[in-house]
Amino acid sequence: MLLLHGHYKFFPRRAAVRNDWCTVCKAPRLAVGTRSLVFLHLFHIPLLPVARVTDWNCSACGNYPGARLATSRSWLRTVFLFAGFLAAVAIWILIATLVTGRDPLAQGHGRMSDGFVGAATFLMVAGIVAWQALRQRRRAEEPGAVESKAPVAPLSGDTCPLCGDLMLTRSNPRCERCRVDILTD
Ligand SMILES: [Zn+2]
Ligand SMILES: [Zn+2]
Repeated sequence: MLLLHGHYKFFPRRAAVRNDWCTVCKAPRLAVGTRSLVFLHLFHIPLLPVARVTDWNCSACGNYPGARLATSRSWLRTVFLFAGFLAAVAIWILIATLVTGRDPLAQGHGRMSDGFVGAATFLMVAGIVAWQALRQRRRAEEPGAVESKAPVAPLSGDTCPLCGDLMLTRSNPRCERCRVDILTD
C-alpha cells in the first residue's frame, strides 16, 4: 500500500533561517529551512497539493537538528518490540509445554519442568529488557537530560546570517537577496 499512495515534495526552496540546537553537532547552530509543497500521489501520479512544509537542516552538518533525538526514540521502540517478542516466545513455550507435557525447546525428550523454566527465563529476560528501556526513556525525557544543551540565542534579526546584509525592518526581518525569512524567536 505504501507504494501505491503517499506523498511527494516538490519545488523545494530555501525559505527561512533560525538558530536552533543541533542534537548531532551538540551545539547551537544556524538552521536553514527548506520549504516545499507536498503533493498526495496515487500510483506515483501526483494528484493535489495538500500542504506547505518546512524541513530544517543544520547549516554545519546538514542533518535535521533533532535527528539524534529521533533516532534514540526509534531505537527505544525497537527495544520494546524485542522485549515483546521475547515475552511472546515465553508465552508460546508455556502453552506448548502445557499442551504437549514436555519442553518444546528440547526435541522430544525434554521434561515439563524444563519447559516452565524455559518460559520463565524468556519472560525474565523480556522483563529486564523492557525495564531497562523504560529507565532509558524516563532518563531521556527528564527535562534538561536530552536537551543537555546551552541556551540557544535566537537570531537578532539585525543582519542576514547567510550574506551579512543589514536588515532594515526589525519586525519579521527578511533578506531579499537570500530570499529567506529571518526567524528571531
Ligand atoms: Zn549539526
Ligand atoms: Zn542574506
